[in-house]
Amino acid sequence: MTASETASFGYEDIPAEEKEGRVGAIFSNVARKYDVMNDAMSVGMHRLWKDKFVKRVRPQPGEAILDMAGGTGDIAFRMAKHGANITVSDINQDMLDVGIERAGKRGIAKDTGGLEWSRQNAEELTFPDRVFDAYTIAFGIRNVTHIDRALAEAHRVLKFGGRFFCLEFSTTEWPGFSEIYDVYSHKLVPKLGQMIAGDEESYRYLIESIRRFPPMPEFEKMIQAAGFKRTKVEPILGGLVAIHSGWKV
Ligand code: SAM
Repeated sequence: MTASETASFGYEDIPAEEKEGRVGAIFSNVARKYDVMNDAMSVGMHRLWKDKFVKRVRPQPGEAILDMAGGTGDIAFRMAKHGANITVSDINQDMLDVGIERAGKRGIAKDTGGLEWSRQNAEELTFPDRVFDAYTIAFGIRNVTHIDRALAEAHRVLKFGGRFFCLEFSTTEWPGFSEIYDVYSHKLVPKLGQMIAGDEESYRYLIESIRRFPPMPEFEKMIQAAGFKRTKVEPILGGLVAIHSGWKV
């Protein structure tokens, strides 16, 4: 890493080596209120997006799936129901701890025996090469400092024939809707963050980080550059959210 390398942190550009720590502080701050805030901010729609995402992944019984940046387990719980063996990984132990607690309450780990929790940085996984059948990352990749390194790691840990899926906010191309969403996200979401979680700044970052994330075609090119083939983008709500996928062949 060079001294001059910068990374986006919301609308700010900061020294790249600072991003991980600052993102870490954001998620430690929001961990306990993360799930309730997701419902409030998206008026429950994140549940539908996650359901759709998991439908695309089509987890199979006995498959090994890495849910990267898995946070409090929303994607992992959905996939474990299909009998897949899920490793939930996240860089932030506070987020994982909330997930472990939720899993315990739901009896999910006990029922399926298929959930493992592992603290990992998406950029430098400790897993060996070619061990997973699928890799998922939902609303996580925009928080990573070097997206190209995370994608390269995803490719490395997948088996041949393995599939990559990413759910991430993007930019809606629906006329009219994008203006409404702009006002909603910039003005209302930080206020909701203040009201519900007592934390306006963290939610301002989360919105700003969405705006700095590359548009769908550009991100698809990054996925291809990491070596994935037959890549696909499925926009939801005109691209407000998108499901990206690709294969390791
Ligand atoms: N996937 C979950 C969901 O959809 O509800 C959580 C998404 S949350 C918005 C983003 C997560 O990315 C946080 O839990 C955060 O700790 C994690 N994260 C950020 N940078 C990361 C990194 N470099 N490696 C692994 N996880 C990271």
